[in-house]
Amino acid sequence: MRAHRLYGQRDLRLVSESEPDLQAGEVRLKVAYSGICGTDVHYYYNDDDKLPNRPRHIGHEFAGTVTEAADDVQSVAVGDRVAVFPLIACGECSECLAERPVHCERYDRSVSTVGCGSLIGGIAESVVIPQSLAFKLPDGLSLLGGSLLEPLSVAATAVRRSGIGADGVAVVLGAGMIGIGAILALKAGGVQNIVVAEVSDKRRENLQSIPGLTVVNPAVEDVRDVVHTLSNGVGADVAYECAGVHPTLDIAMDVARLHGQIIIVAMQPVPYPVDMVAVSLRELSIVGHNSTTRQDFAKTAHVLEQGILPVEDWVTIIDFERVLEEGIDPSKRGELVKAVIEVPQ
Ligand SMILES: [Zn+2]
Ligand SMILES: [Zn+2]
Repeated sequence: MRAHRLYGQRDLRLVSESEPDLQAGEVRLKVAYSGICGTDVHYYYNDDDKLPNRPRHIGHEFAGTVTEAADDVQSVAVGDRVAVFPLIACGECSECLAERPVHCERYDRSVSTVGCGSLIGGIAESVVIPQSLAFKLPDGLSLLGGSLLEPLSVAATAVRRSGIGADGVAVVLGAGMIGIGAILALKAGGVQNIVVAEVSDKRRENLQSIPGLTVVNPAVEDVRDVVHTLSNGVGADVAYECAGVHPTLDIAMDVARLHGQIIIVAMQPVPYPVDMVAVSLRELSIVGHNSTTRQDFAKTAHVLEQGILPVEDWVTIIDFERVLEEGIDPSKRGELVKAVIEVPQ
């Protein structure tokens, strides 16, 4: 089987590998679709040689069909369509019991997150995973939709953690797949006032036809004015920073109401000064966010199945043999909403 492996900075190779035998509790998956995340783009351009498990097995947003299962596997069967929940966790420690598997006390996250340190990577024709990571797709959800569950549910977890009510004012900064996940979760939660700020024309166009959204181009309009008008001068209850860049962090600070929340949903890879006097005077909460939970993964699958947003229509399908040219490079340039690799069947 063929797989894309990262040998170092800007050194991604399509290699042929023999398929490993299954161990107890494992299943083999024929990958159908595999999303390219900002994390993969970051690894490609900035890979760190000190990290374990070389070459790196990248790709943590994927779905496929079970082709083989070890004798003791019970939760899934050959032929099942599954998405992969990317966090290996014990399920028993206090963090796992509190539904925070990303902080599992028994696993080192740097070697036990699918596509981000572990020896499981989804940008491949086939992959072996523990059965515990296989999430069976509902009948109404396609394999392409399944490959979007991870980024969408990361945002869904952030929205749940924010505790926003249906009458709250939400501002979503950035409308890539993380921002879309926030919009999806907010709409599923009945939130009526949602402002989306996005500089890309293409991304804004996708959202223009969606009822109940105020879509703003922050390059030409003052997002604070828009939020001010919508909220009768109060400001946003929650600003979800979903772009991972500095200008959106500034906007989030600007639009948050007194004692409002700013949730950092996308990674901000470069340190940046924040006006802590404003944080104190306005009693703002700046909340970090990392990954998702099984519960939100399942909930997102059902919300996606309902078709509240036509998310699959916004995906750009990438040729398996042109991952760099069609996927990683254009993603780095911010040209796509989401690049998803179609794996030859
Ligand atoms: Zn991701
Ligand atoms: Zn645990």
